[in-house]
Amino acid sequence: MNLHEYQARELLRRAGIPVPPGEVATTPAEAKAAAERIGTGKVVVKAQVHAGGRGKAGGVKLADTPEQAADVASKILALTIKGLRVEKVLIAPAAQIVSEAYIGVIVDRASQSPVMMVSPAGGIDIEEVAAKTPEKIFRMRVDARYGLLSHQAMELAFHLYTDVALVRQAADILQKLYRAFVDAGASLAEINPLVVTPKNEVVALDAKIVVDDNELERKPAIEALRDVSSENPSEVKARDANLTYIKLDGNVGCIVNGAGLAMATMDLVKYYGGEPANFLDIGGSSNPDKVVAALQIVTADPNVKAILFNIFGGITRCDDVANGIVAATKQFTVKVPIVIRLTGTNEQEAVRILEGVGMKAMTDMDLAVQKAVEVAKKGGAAA
Ligand code: GDP
Ligand code: MN
Repeated sequence: MNLHEYQARELLRRAGIPVPPGEVATTPAEAKAAAERIGTGKVVVKAQVHAGGRGKAGGVKLADTPEQAADVASKILALTIKGLRVEKVLIAPAAQIVSEAYIGVIVDRASQSPVMMVSPAGGIDIEEVAAKTPEKIFRMRVDARYGLLSHQAMELAFHLYTDVALVRQAADILQKLYRAFVDAGASLAEINPLVVTPKNEVVALDAKIVVDDNELERKPAIEALRDVSSENPSEVKARDANLTYIKLDGNVGCIVNGAGLAMATMDLVKYYGGEPANFLDIGGSSNPDKVVAALQIVTADPNVKAILFNIFGGITRCDDVANGIVAATKQFTVKVPIVIRLTGTNEQEAVRILEGVGMKAMTDMDLAVQKAVEVAKKGGAAA
């Protein structure tokens, strides 16, 4: 689950990290009022969407007066950044910036640990730094039993600054960031930019936190921060239907039972020259309603030109899946061809059910994937 910057800032502030105060506004008038309350001249107006790179997209702007804040807010509130409509802006006193650094912590699969990362080359292009000058990013594995120890935080902070007064501030912030990361159940927490002001104060000007969904059950206060209106509607629907769905950029919609088979299916789609439109695991239970929800979600993606069912019947019964497909096609028209591969529990019944409505099922996974890729390439014209 993604948090908005203003929510992440609040968590960092509670962890004791210096973050400028701010107010959320949803209209230019609210933005103006917020700027008036802040009162200290220049403010920064920032789009609140679940996307990075807002600066480059025109979603972060400075304003000298409350009137200008209203004007800038009206422009930012009209933006769509990376497909996400801007519904809210954050108004905060503008900081003066001497230098910009990056600090972050992620759960690293390779080392099976949290890993802290710092770079003196912070600002808006950390991805480019990672790609072009990776030597400017310093990493440190953290032993989750002890957390980030002070000497480790100091070592990292010395990669950012030479002035010891700044190093000490940064080290303190790194330890607090690590604590906030653990407390939020995050898979990622980052501050970019972490800035030095003309008064030699180290301050966080941006905050990003991604929470591990598996932590939400035991962190109701974090779960309460969920903003459904700014999430992908299909992912919301999938969560409500208990499906695991990740949207991708291809055109072959995949509906599969089991995460392993779903991964294998996506691999095979790629192997045969296609691009999967999604990862979708209908899971182990065999409830036709889940299949209906899955088809609704996959068909809602306009990029999808063919739908591939790949079912290996075990606990998931093939006849239930077939009934789900039939029920769905009765409830709404599926405009793209469906390729069905199923084998295993109650396969024969499934074939009979599908044949009853003029649909065919295949048993060979390779052939089914090849067919789905081919049909999708033709633009879904003929099944
Ligand atoms: P992002 O592009 O989505 O990561 O948004 P950021 O919040 O990181 O802002 C992008 C850039 O805008 C920062 O790297 C800064 O250079 C600039 N910026 C953000 N806040 C301020 C501020 O308070 N004062 C000044 N002068 N620049 C800011
Ligand atoms: Mn940033």
